[in-house]
Formats: sequence, C-alpha cells, structure tokens
Amino acid sequence: MNERALYSQIPAIDGLLREDGIAAPVALYGQTYIVSVLREMQDDARGSIRDKQQLPDWHSGWADELSRRVDSEREALQPVINLTGTVLHTNLGRALQAEAAIEAVTNAMRYPVTLEYSLDDAGRGHRDSVVAERLCQLTGAEAACIVNNNAAAVLLVLATMAAGREVIVSRGELVEIGGAFRVPEVMSQAGCRLVEVGTTNRTHLRDYQHAISEQTALLMKVHTSNYHIEGFTAEVNGQELAALGLAHAVPTVIDLGSGALIDMTQWGLPEEPMPQRYLEQGIDIVTFSGDKLLGGPQAGIILGKKEWIDAIQQHPLKRALRADKMTLAALDATLRLYRRPEKLAQTLPSLRLLTRSADDIYDMAQRLLPKIQAYYGDDWVIRTEPCSSQIGSGSLPVERLAGWALTFTPQNGKGSALATLTQSHRRLATPVIGRVNDGRLWWDLRCLEDENRLLQALLP
Ligand SMILES: *Cc1c(COP(=O)(O)O)cnc(C)c1O
Repeated sequence: MNERALYSQIPAIDGLLREDGIAAPVALYGQTYIVSVLREMQDDARGSIRDKQQLPDWHSGWADELSRRVDSEREALQPVINLTGTVLHTNLGRALQAEAAIEAVTNAMRYPVTLEYSLDDAGRGHRDSVVAERLCQLTGAEAACIVNNNAAAVLLVLATMAAGREVIVSRGELVEIGGAFRVPEVMSQAGCRLVEVGTTNRTHLRDYQHAISEQTALLMKVHTSNYHIEGFTAEVNGQELAALGLAHAVPTVIDLGSGALIDMTQWGLPEEPMPQRYLEQGIDIVTFSGDKLLGGPQAGIILGKKEWIDAIQQHPLKRALRADKMTLAALDATLRLYRRPEKLAQTLPSLRLLTRSADDIYDMAQRLLPKIQAYYGDDWVIRTEPCSSQIGSGSLPVERLAGWALTFTPQNGKGSALATLTQSHRRLATPVIGRVNDGRLWWDLRCLEDENRLLQALLP
C-alpha cells in the first residue's frame, strides 16, 4: 500500500464516535476528553505511517486501544506500597496522616469552616490562631505561626528579623537539605547577609562573639539533620547561644528541621531535639516541619517570643506563605492527639511504624514468605532477612531501626532480572516500591501494616 492509501485508512473522529465500543467511554468520560484521546491516536497513526510506512499494530482495534489509553491514565498522586524501609520518605509524601486528621481534612473540604471567622463575636479571626494556641499549650511557647513548610518558615523568619542585615551561622551548619533548600541561598533570598563563623568541624562561642557587630540582626543555628560529623568536633549549644544573644541584645533562631514535640527516647527511639527545650533555654524563635517526626501534614511551624511572632505574622510574605484550611485542619487534629501522649504510638501512624517491634515484623515476614515464594516459583530465592530501616526526612541520619525484610535473589544470578522485577513491581496497579542493595531486592516490611494490601497488589 502506498502512503496515501495508508493515510486514508485512518478513521475519522465522527465515524469512530458512532462505533459501539466507543459509546461507553464517551458516556463515562465525556465527549471532549474522548475526542482528545482519539485525536492523539490519529496523530500517532500518522506518525507511524510517516516513520515506518505502516499503520500502528493496534489499528485493527481503535476502541480497544482507546480503552487501554484511558485506563492506563495515571493519577498524579498514585497510592503505592512503601517497602523501602524509610518511614518518613520525602518522595513518597512523608508522614501518613492520623485517622483524626483525615476526618478533619474531609470536613474542611466538604463544608464551610471557621477558617478566619470567629463564632464568638462574628469578627474576623486570625487563621492560625486556634492551632497556634494549641501549639503554645503543648510547648510553652509564647506564640506561634504556621506556614506552608519549614523552608517557608525559615525564609519568613529571616525576612522579618534580618532583612538587609547580617546573620551569623556556623560553617558546620550551612546545610543543603535537598530540593534546593540551602541555608546560604535562603539567606540571600530573604535579603540577609550571611556571616560564616568557625570551621566545618568546630565552632566555638567566641567565634560568634567576635563576629557580632552593629550590623548583626541574628544568631542562627541549623540542625544538621541529614548528615553527621564525627571525631574532633565542637558546636555551641542552644543555652550558650541564647545567653550570648541576650548579652548583646541580638535575637537567636534555630531551624530544627524535624523537631519532636515529645521525647522520642521513651519508645527506644533516638533522641531528637525538642522545640520546647530550646525555648526554655531562652532561644527566641525555633522552626520545624509538620510532616517529619511530628507526624502531621506538610507545614512549617514557627514558635517563640510574642513580639517576634507578631512581627512575623504581619510581614507581607506571610500572606504568600500561609497554610491552607486543609493543612490547618490536619495539623489541629494531629496536635490534639498529643494531649494523650500514652496513646500516640497507636494513634499517630508515623510513630506507630517507627515503634513497631522487630518481632511483629518478623511474624509478618514469616506469614508472607510461603505465599510470595509460591507466586514467584523457582525464578527467585526468597528469604526473610534482618534489615535496618531509616526514620527518613533527615531525622537522625545515622540511626537505624532493626526490622525484617523479604529479599529476592535471582536464581540465574543476573542483575538484569532484578531490574525487570523491580520494574514490574512499579507497574502494578498499586505499585510496590522496595530497594535494591547487594544484588538483591529488599522488601523492608516495617511500613506494611496491612499484608493483604501487598498480596492483593501482587495477585489481583
Ligand atoms: C527538612 C528541613 C528543612 C525543610 O523543611 P520542609 O518542611 O521540607 O520545607 C529545613 N531545614 C532543616 C534543618 C530540615 O531538616
């Protein structure tokens, strides 16, 4: 067939819309969308004729190809099964939300809510005020402000407290958090001048002291959340920094990164700095994330002295960085769970996963092993293996949690089989995400609470 004849084989949209197999998708998705997919198919068919001088292999069944394309259209945020072993996985959305938070968000989405409306005097309330009060009760802070994320919190604090002036930071704390959050760059975006003091491994109080001048607006510390310096090191603690700031009438700020509102060591977890401790020590302002160890929605929380928080609330950037009603609803519901700390390891999903016992995970691995082995037959050696999970989100980078994994080793020993296997897992209707290490695929079971969800994903 010559090219012209091939082109004439491409059906017209009108004709396609009259086909039986296409009426159902039109009824389901609407004509506009289906026509746009059919046009895309026509373009692909023309491309195939142009490049390969033939019709595409699906040409005999346009309705089937249409259904395939419509069905395989993926949501932007697809639910997956996290078997990476990282609990607060930034690329998988960090903290899972508590049931109470899910309910609160659903209500905030479905009904009008008192976002900036006070029921007492029908005046306009402040959108953060109720959540801020709760944060103050929990931490003893004088005041609080909530924005979109911790990066926004740091930006807003610097812009309010130090624009056009100098901020003194230790060289050991000029961190990059990932996703382009680098302390020196945030400083310049906020209009501040960074004054680096000390060295990468050691910074002393006198280093800050010598750098203080008329131009100094702030003394700042950044929690080095995603790396760890070992050996001959020294840093100035919150207490010392607060005292130095007070002596020179210079305010002090700490970006805590994760922060924990409650002592994590009570569950045998590693110690993470608590905002309330720094405020007690006299630090003026602390900032941290809502979706790291706190276990709530993405948010940036700023706590501290009332006069500074008032100024922060009034800065024009606050309007650009403010949290939306869904965030505030989820954060409020999450914080209310902290009033019953003895239940938190059940009610807060991230803490539940972090505190899951190795024995519990081992039992699950033993239950799953025969089923997974039966499914994968003889191509894979599947074993239960001890493994160590990570908290994630830069919290406690060197600490590990003991747990158990299922590992897949290819029988033929070829690495390409491993790549094919992980790809097939990513293409499941509910993708399963593990991690490849040491020539094996590891399914760390710490974050799998419902084993049927995994079995259904594999054997639908
Ligand atoms: C995670 C982190 C941030 C960024 O917080 P987001 O809530 O992700 O914007 C900033 N500083 C430190 C020290 C962090 O650990």
